Amino acid sequence: MLCKGPLPPQQTTSSVTAPLKPPHTTMSIKLHSHAFSGNPLLSKFPLSGDTLSPSAALQALNARIALSKTHSSPSPTFKVLPFRSGRPLASSQPGNANSPPSWHLGWLGLHELRGIFDNSGAQLSTDSLVYLNSSAEDDAVYWAIDVSAEVPELGGNDTGLYFVELRTLMVATDWLDLQAMGNLAIAGHAKALLEWHNASRFCGHCGEKTVPMEAGRRKQCSNDSCKKRIYPRVDPVVIMLVIDRENDRALLAKRPMRLTRLYTCLSGFTEPGESLEEAVRRETWEETGIEVGEVVYHSSQPWPVAPNSIPCQLMVGFFAYAQSFEITVDKTEIEDAQWFSREDVRKALTFAKYKQAQITAAEKVEQMCEGLEKNRSLASDLNVESSDEHAPIVVPGPFAIAHHLISFWALSDQNVVNGVECN
Ligand SMILES: [Zn+2]
Repeated sequence: MLCKGPLPPQQTTSSVTAPLKPPHTTMSIKLHSHAFSGNPLLSKFPLSGDTLSPSAALQALNARIALSKTHSSPSPTFKVLPFRSGRPLASSQPGNANSPPSWHLGWLGLHELRGIFDNSGAQLSTDSLVYLNSSAEDDAVYWAIDVSAEVPELGGNDTGLYFVELRTLMVATDWLDLQAMGNLAIAGHAKALLEWHNASRFCGHCGEKTVPMEAGRRKQCSNDSCKKRIYPRVDPVVIMLVIDRENDRALLAKRPMRLTRLYTCLSGFTEPGESLEEAVRRETWEETGIEVGEVVYHSSQPWPVAPNSIPCQLMVGFFAYAQSFEITVDKTEIEDAQWFSREDVRKALTFAKYKQAQITAAEKVEQMCEGLEKNRSLASDLNVESSDEHAPIVVPGPFAIAHHLISFWALSDQNVVNGVECN
């Protein structure tokens, strides 16, 4: 099982089009493939001087945009992933009797993108394209662009393409399909970069405009006497399963505005000057009045879909062993917190309809791409509650690190997690 011993290396590839190799062992959905990690475009980054490095790719991009419309595409291939209001362009491959539909990223060629800009009377500028990475194997450079303002007709009803909420795509992703998980990670990374670009248009020191540098990998203040360098932002959040070893229970909390029976791990932002372990102890104390002793690291997960303006959180997962057991809930942060037996948590994992939720979301994405359905509410996307109520609670699905912390603890003596054998 993945949880034993050091973490295996991430399954990665330098190409987004080549099929991903299966993992070496049959495995659970744990660790190896947290949603938004395992980005095949982040596994190898070209060094400066490489023909596909950010600065070389930007030069080639400038030259390509200056060429006439009818010019055939020379090497390398440029592939661009458009976003609108934080939503990536997606398509869907229809399902059949044996398999549900599967969504794909709506990559456009540079020539195609420019045609769409021209038709909208908008100017395609290299400054608006953000370098994601390149693949020497595919002779391709991958970019993202925010088209919110410029091209209203892209992603229309008869194109088979639609701008879909990243959270919906997250739920719609088959977590056992490494290719699909890689695409989700690419979309998450691109969304975070574009949101950071949007939020860092002005220098925090002097207030002047910032300009993209290194093909959008960083920014810099345009004021010559300032020239502050600005890098993409990541915000660390601790997330912990608090465990009562003596009574074999785990502490789970219900957040306000969530599904009625959804209980999950405690979590919170780290303070400046605080270690992650200290943040685990402080947050647990503040939210539930429980004192924590030993803190053990589990794994981490990029989280570019937080419901606020933070481009990307890094969820850092821990097991936290309680030293006190009386719960005092801070009602401003959480609605309820309780100790749950291993048996209750196992029931929650057994009866939740994670696979059904994934298939339903995949079918909805299919309908959106066909122009049959507009965006749906988040609550219905995440609905994994079992109608038969065999379990007292439900816990988050496999796209969340909380699921893996909880299932590792609850099923650590089992060899099957979510229908997948664990070796
Ligand atoms: Zn400045």
